[in-house]
Amino acid sequence: MSGQRTKDPAANLWTHTAEPSPETPPLDGDATADVVVVGGGFTGLSTALHLAERGAQVVVLEAEGPGFGASGRNNGQVIPAYVRHNPDDIVRLFGEERGARLNDWVGGSAQLVFDLIRKHVIQCEAAQNGWLQPAHRPSRMGAIRNKQSQWAARGAPARLLSGEETEALTGSPYYRHGGWIHDEGGHIQPLGYARGLARAAIAAGARIHGRSPASAIERADGKWRVRTAKGAVSADAVILATNGYTETLWPRLRQSIVPFRTFHAATAPMSDNVARSVLPQNHGLSDTRQALWAFRKDQGGRLITTAAPISPIGAVSKIAATTKARLEEAFPQIGEIDVAHVWEGYIAVTPERLPRLHELAGGVFAGMGYSGRGIAMATAMGRTLAERAMGASADAVAPPPSPVKTLPMHDVVAPLSRAMIGYYRWKDGRD
Ligand SMILES: Cc1cc2nc3c(=O)[nH]c(=O)nc-3n(C[C@H](O)[C@H](O)[C@H](O)COP(=O)(O)OP(=O)(O)OC[C@H]3O[C@@H](n4cnc5c(N)ncnc54)[C@H](O)[C@@H]3O)c2cc1C
Repeated sequence: MSGQRTKDPAANLWTHTAEPSPETPPLDGDATADVVVVGGGFTGLSTALHLAERGAQVVVLEAEGPGFGASGRNNGQVIPAYVRHNPDDIVRLFGEERGARLNDWVGGSAQLVFDLIRKHVIQCEAAQNGWLQPAHRPSRMGAIRNKQSQWAARGAPARLLSGEETEALTGSPYYRHGGWIHDEGGHIQPLGYARGLARAAIAAGARIHGRSPASAIERADGKWRVRTAKGAVSADAVILATNGYTETLWPRLRQSIVPFRTFHAATAPMSDNVARSVLPQNHGLSDTRQALWAFRKDQGGRLITTAAPISPIGAVSKIAATTKARLEEAFPQIGEIDVAHVWEGYIAVTPERLPRLHELAGGVFAGMGYSGRGIAMATAMGRTLAERAMGASADAVAPPPSPVKTLPMHDVVAPLSRAMIGYYRWKDGRD
C-alpha cells in the first residue's frame, strides 16, 4: 500500500494520476489586487477564474498548493442535487423566489463544472455520463421517487430507474431495488480538475501563491490587508475559501461548521474483464445510505470508494479489511483484490446540510459548508462570490447571504462527530 499514513500526500491516489500543477510560487513581498482569495480549492479557484475573466486583479493565497484540501482528495462525483433536501423543501425554507433561485443554482452546478472543463480544456478524466443514486434497501425507493420527480418537475434530466436497469448500470446484484439518474452529473479526476482550474485562472490573469498560508486579515488605509509569513496583499475585497480546512483566520468561522474527517480507498487496477463488469457504462454512484457507499472507476481501472471507520485509530488496516468486505458484497465478481491506497480529507458539514455564503464585514465574504457535495456546489459558489465581490446585489445571489452561526460546544462536538457514523449505520440498516 502506498503511504501507510492516511495524511501522507502519496497515500492519495489522485496525486499519482493528476496532471502536474502549474507553478504557484510563494508570495514574497507586498502586492495589491482588487480581490484577495484565501484558499486554493474549487471554491477559491473558481472564484479567482471568474473574477479574472471579468477583468478583476486577483491574488490567491493557498497554504499548500492548488487542490491540497478536500478538492484534491474526493471521490470525484459531480452531483447537481442537495445531500438531504429536495427542491420543494428549499422553496418552503427560503420562499418561492429565493428557493427557486437556489434550486436553479444547485441544479445547474454540474453543467457549470463540465462547461468549464470543456472551455478550458482541463485534463481530468471528465465523464459527464450521468450521476447514479441506487436504493440500498427497497424502503428507500419512496425517497428516491420524491427526489427524482421534484428535480424532473423543474426541468432537470432526471430519470427513475427500475430494479433491472439499476442492476445493469451498476453491475451489482446488490443494487437491485431501483434508483434514479441525473444525466447532467458525472465524475472527474478531482486533483486534475483543481489544477486545471488553477491553470485557467492564471491564464486569465490571476496570481496564485502556493505555500503561502494567510496569517492575519486587518484593515489598513481603507483596504483589507492579508498577511503571510513573507508578504501581504492589499485589496478592496477578501474571499475566504478555506471550508473544512478553516482555522482561526476569521473569528468564529471555524466554529460554524463541523470539519468532518473522512476517508477514501482505491483498489489496485482491476483486470479488463472485471473492470468492464463493474459500473459497465462508467457511471459514478452514491447510494442512499447516510454512512454513504460511493463507487466510481478511474481511467486506470481502479475502483475508488468511501471508507468510514468510526475511530481513525489504525485506519489503514481497518479500511483495507472493510473495503474488501464491502466490495465482496457489492461487486462479488471482483474476487480477491488489493486495496492499494487509503487517504483522508476534511469536509465542512453544516447542521442543515446546505451551503452557506457569508458576508463577514464590508468587502469580506466566505463560501463554505457543502456537506460532502462540493465539487459542483463549490464551483458554483466561486462564480457567485466573484459576482458578489464585483457588485452583484445581495438580493440577487444564491445561496442567500446568512450570518455566521457558531455551533454550541463546537470543541467537543467536532472531534466526536465521527461517532455519528455508528448511528447512521444503524439507521441505514432499518426500514
Ligand atoms: C474524501 C472526500 C470525498 C468527497 N467526495 C465528494 C464527491 O464525490 N462529490 C462531491 O461533490 N464532493 C465530495 N467531497 C467534498 C468536496 O471535495 C468539497 O466540498 C470541496 O472540495 C470543497 O472545496 P473548497 O475549495 O471549498 O475547500 P477545500 O478544497 O478543502 O480547500 C480549502 C483550501 O484552503 C486552504 N487553506 C486553509 N487555510 C488557509 C490559510 N490560512 N491560508 C491559505 N490557504 C488556506 C487549504 O490548504 C485548502 O487547500 C468529498 C470530500 C472528501 C474529503
